[in-house]
Amino acid sequence: MSISSVNSSLIKQSGYINGQWCAAENGATISVTNPATGETLGQVPDMGINETRAAIDAASQALVGWRELAPKERARLLRRWNDLILEHKEDLARLMTLEQGKPLFETLGEVLYGASYIEWYAEESKRAYGKVFAAPTADKRALSVQQPIGVVAAITPWNFPNAMITRKIAPALAAGCTIVVKPSEETPFSALALMALAEQAGIPAGVINMITSTKAAVVGKEMTDDSRVRKLSFTGSTRVGKLLYGQSADTVKKLSLELGGNAPFIVFDDADLDAAVAGAVISKFRNAGQTCVCANRILVQDGIHDAFVARFKEAVEQLVVGNGLIDTTTLGPVINKAAIDKIAAMVDTAQTQGAELVTGGRRHPAGELFFAPTILTGVTQDMEIARQEIFGPVAPVIRFKDDAEAIAIANDTPYGLAAYFFTESHSRIWKIAEGLEYGMIGINEGILSNEIAPFGGVKESGLGREGSSQGLEDYMETKYLCMGGIR
Ligand code: ADP
Repeated sequence: MSISSVNSSLIKQSGYINGQWCAAENGATISVTNPATGETLGQVPDMGINETRAAIDAASQALVGWRELAPKERARLLRRWNDLILEHKEDLARLMTLEQGKPLFETLGEVLYGASYIEWYAEESKRAYGKVFAAPTADKRALSVQQPIGVVAAITPWNFPNAMITRKIAPALAAGCTIVVKPSEETPFSALALMALAEQAGIPAGVINMITSTKAAVVGKEMTDDSRVRKLSFTGSTRVGKLLYGQSADTVKKLSLELGGNAPFIVFDDADLDAAVAGAVISKFRNAGQTCVCANRILVQDGIHDAFVARFKEAVEQLVVGNGLIDTTTLGPVINKAAIDKIAAMVDTAQTQGAELVTGGRRHPAGELFFAPTILTGVTQDMEIARQEIFGPVAPVIRFKDDAEAIAIANDTPYGLAAYFFTESHSRIWKIAEGLEYGMIGINEGILSNEIAPFGGVKESGLGREGSSQGLEDYMETKYLCMGGIR
């Protein structure tokens, strides 16, 4: 199955600036490949500084009209966009599997998840409340209003080619901001398909603009240097996030950073074993382990360790590795050669350092970018595999004795995005949830993200929250109005 199986109105091989579909100024292009087969799917423009500036110009010009629209009117356009995405969900899912690799049931899930942010923020746009304060003196009145922050720049990764974009555009537009987005060069087709549907929905020219580029550093610098851009929203690696944080200092931009994680997944002796195994499989292996909230370290208490490992092995060996377009596939390829080489090296190093292989541990014959689902036991917190984000289908199991040790190991990382734990004790639920230094906690649950919840991390995992009412506030400024001379 090739890209021709996708509705042609969704295949765009151009950037989208000021409502126009455009090529790179110098004609340069990027080839997009299918990670499952290596086949070339098509080309998109390789844009640079000038196109980025043109997109910011367009977003600045469109800002006045867009922020003056009644929230109800913005909501109507967002709802239409949401409806069109749902109408085309099967095509969007197929397109995403073709360029990103994950199985169809996951890409379909992502399209629905991505759209849920648009629907949610269409509703939330009508709920941006101000405040009236008790004035300090009799002749004054004091209040505050919420206003859109202005032009937003967004940079997004390849692991969720749809939802990481809607999660930024929807609250930005709902708040009354306009936006310039640079999607990952690995997965631009899913991003551009969203633009095609935004155009069909009638979202005005310049309100959303999209730049495709391999020159991420150049485009990112242009975005951060431009003082008209008042907010940067980035999802990606901690390394690049820190760079953009620094680059944003000169113009004191507001920032949302959703960076790397090192999620602990803790199984206590009193856990429901079936639920813990099912949670670990979904949390670790979805998207071939390539999500920032994937379980990165599986901490298992002494008393349940062996039973858990035996059942986990059984479940992991049932995963079906292959091309995501095949219905029975449950585990697709990883994104590129650098990723698979890094995963293979990490697994080798862990074994050299004393970890034991329970299953997998090698590349998979399904293709160049496939890695067999892997479990390692005997992992300790000082090993590289426990300290770094794996971003692949590899589950390192660490054994622990008691609650204090579990918390100490879990928090021994600069990251603080998601953590999970399984227990049937209600005291433990409170104590452990309070003790974990993480922005999001799954309790007897391996999947936690949805549009109603504030998604985000603490420590070096980032700033700000996406989703929930907080996600809208992050695109707004509070303006205080002080009225005097009241007689
Ligand atoms: P990943 O390892 O998940 O690809 P990256 O942080 O490298 O994470 O990429 C996330 C996004 O950041 C992508 O859109 C990528 O093109 C972009 N990016 C990479 N380097 C830079 C940079 N120096 N400045 C701005 N954006 C960048």
